[in-house]
Amino acid sequence: MVATPTVGKDPVVTVTADARTELDRTRFFINGEWVEPRGAETHRAVEAATGEPLGEAALGTDADIDAAVQAARKALDEGPWSRTTVAERVEFMLKFADALDARAESTSKLVSQENGMPITLSSAFNGAAPAGLLRMYAQVIQGVDLEKARPSAQGATIVRREPVGVVGAITPWNYPQALAMFKLAPALATGCTMVLKPSPETALDTYIFADVAQEIGLPPGVLNIVLAGREAGASLVTHPGVDKIAFTGSTRAGREIGAECGRLIRRCTLELGGKSAAIFLDDGDVDTFLAGLPNASFMNNSQTCTTQSRILAPRSRYDEVVDAVASFSQGLQVGNPLDPATTCGPMASAQHLERVLGYIEVGRNSNARLVTGGGRPSDQDRGWFVEPTVFADVDNNDQLAREEVFGPVMAVIPFDSDEDAVRIANDSNYGLGGSVWSADEERALNVARRIRTGTIGINRYDIDLGSPFGGFKDSGIGRELGPEGINNYLEYKSIYAPANQLD
Ligand code: NAD
Repeated sequence: MVATPTVGKDPVVTVTADARTELDRTRFFINGEWVEPRGAETHRAVEAATGEPLGEAALGTDADIDAAVQAARKALDEGPWSRTTVAERVEFMLKFADALDARAESTSKLVSQENGMPITLSSAFNGAAPAGLLRMYAQVIQGVDLEKARPSAQGATIVRREPVGVVGAITPWNYPQALAMFKLAPALATGCTMVLKPSPETALDTYIFADVAQEIGLPPGVLNIVLAGREAGASLVTHPGVDKIAFTGSTRAGREIGAECGRLIRRCTLELGGKSAAIFLDDGDVDTFLAGLPNASFMNNSQTCTTQSRILAPRSRYDEVVDAVASFSQGLQVGNPLDPATTCGPMASAQHLERVLGYIEVGRNSNARLVTGGGRPSDQDRGWFVEPTVFADVDNNDQLAREEVFGPVMAVIPFDSDEDAVRIANDSNYGLGGSVWSADEERALNVARRIRTGTIGINRYDIDLGSPFGGFKDSGIGRELGPEGINNYLEYKSIYAPANQLD
């Protein structure tokens, strides 16, 4: 039995002497209320650019996760949520979107402080995208036949689509708002309930969804949020009250989660890591390539799953491409992510910075050639900054070409022909993003069709939230986004019915 929680009020906002805002989230959002944690562990959130405190957050235990799942289960099984009409749910979703819009600026700022995302990008992915996704899935669900009779040999079959049930959503720190909403928007649309477990690195911002849920009067238990680490996350994966796991994170964690879901025959979607290739063909335009590089390879300080950190360049133009990528990297404005001029902010945490610096060491100790970067910027004396770094003459078998760095460390790899470029791009355990750069769009398209990857751009790489997104191979199982993303949250049921059920 878990202890009865006491109900408190959150968030606690303190304005410090130097006018910084500190935001404490010391309770969890369960069953529509702020409840005290069962355990005593907390996480001290610090600003990635300065190391200054941002706030304190409680870390959940198995008992907190259990309470949250029970609330979600009750809301699904007994509560009105799964019996609401589409029109009622759409109304909640549109109110949710409006309330997020009203907070867009402060949300964007908070995430930039948490994980170092440049503010212009944060405004798009943390400010605008979550509300946009709610509006998109509000529209999508109105076009889905949730119950339709069809003729059968014996009479009629009513094909129903029912909510998959209680969803356990586990999210990473790199795009915390958008990636949570990839899951929450279709879950709300279909009548599912959710326990959302964000990552401790971004401990504070996900609770904005809780503030909004309270403000718009979302029924208790529909959305529950418990910040927790891996162990409590693992208890969400195996909790008997959960019907489906929606996970975004590393391939290592995805393997463990997928194995548990397989054992339990639990539905799961896994959005995992990547090591994508940008393929610059021998007729490519360097200026077009450089204009596309911010999104293809450096988005969010390259802390992006689709980062194209393998840059494939033809031998005939190899030096030109290496020079162009190196001077582009040198031109990035490394600095505080809250400054709109910044194009490369810090890494999200001290631990992550160490990991990225570790990969730079791996590159230095290989046969690759360090062209630019290679350490910490000398003009940043605090925060988790790293120099944008380019290695040339990387072999596709090198560790630097095989493993996800998740920071601005590029590996330029030479190739001999289009055929060779396709072979190298596909010679990876991953298959998440990619791009092809050529003056001949048909030629680029033909190459793109041959790459085993979930998304790929022609002379640009911009994620389209209206289309399926996910990975081949070790990059995951299933697809989120687009109208197709709704299918993860629906179960089919066939009712063998009398013929008079036909329209
Ligand atoms: P991570 O796997 O360390 O953690 C992700 C989340 O899973 C966190 O909330 C963490 O607490 C939780 N977690 C970790 N192990 C768990 C376990 N065994 N059981 C349950 N929960 C567990 O990843 P991260 O470092 O936070 O994020 C970076 C990774 O996410 C990168 O590999 C990146 O490529 C990937 N990612 C993928 C996509 C995509 O859509 N494919 C998008 C963004 C990020």
